[in-house]
Amino acid sequence: MARIHLFVLFLSSLILFVNAQFEYFQMVQQWPLATCTGTPCLNPPSNKFTIHGLWPSNFSNAILVCKGSTFNSTNTAFLALEPLLNQYWPDLISKNNRGFWRYEWNKHGTCSESVFNQVQYFQTTLNIRTNPNYDLLAILKTARLIPTGSISHRYHVIEGAIRAAIGKKPGLRCNINKKTRNSQLHEIVLCFDKNGVTLIDCPFPRKCPTQFKWLLS
Ligand code: 5GP
Repeated sequence: MARIHLFVLFLSSLILFVNAQFEYFQMVQQWPLATCTGTPCLNPPSNKFTIHGLWPSNFSNAILVCKGSTFNSTNTAFLALEPLLNQYWPDLISKNNRGFWRYEWNKHGTCSESVFNQVQYFQTTLNIRTNPNYDLLAILKTARLIPTGSISHRYHVIEGAIRAAIGKKPGLRCNINKKTRNSQLHEIVLCFDKNGVTLIDCPFPRKCPTQFKWLLS
């Protein structure tokens, strides 16, 4: 009897896992220099946040396994987005922008196809990146926070400046600089409701130490 119960439990967790739905979006922007100290980049890093991706996510952190339509780069409406995508969503590592968009769509975008088709998904991401209210570099500059490479920034100061400007808690991620072994600002995440418009507090724990560098190229 106990075995049957265990088996039923196993089956239901399997169904839960397979059916894990996305509950909110992480709009992930990366600081190119921090990406490119870990992996060599063909694209020379600029001092601007670029898009890493718009990631359908789950409050319980369940992994979303998604199968949706394959990436279509010939759709006319998608082609119309390409100039802005090239500007804000470049492939830093291999300079193959379409390849990077395809990868992000297939891995992440397809998980939100219940609300956004491919064109809407990329349009929504661009809408966030080009919204002046969410311009991370401008927000931080206004708070007199700038990349220098030398000074250390405090997590709560950077988080607080963004939170004060947008009204919700961002998520910060750091990585380790392989040369200096310092922690450095790598990504800033803004979180949105399933509609891709309403900001929410990022619900995941911070992924940076209390102090870190912010590199300047
Ligand atoms: P995810 O797979 O969830 O999108 O994020 C992690 C991966 O994104 C890592 O393997 C990282 O190397 C990759 N990544 C981050 N930025 C870029 C980029 O600009 N170009 C490419 N090709 N991959 C990137």
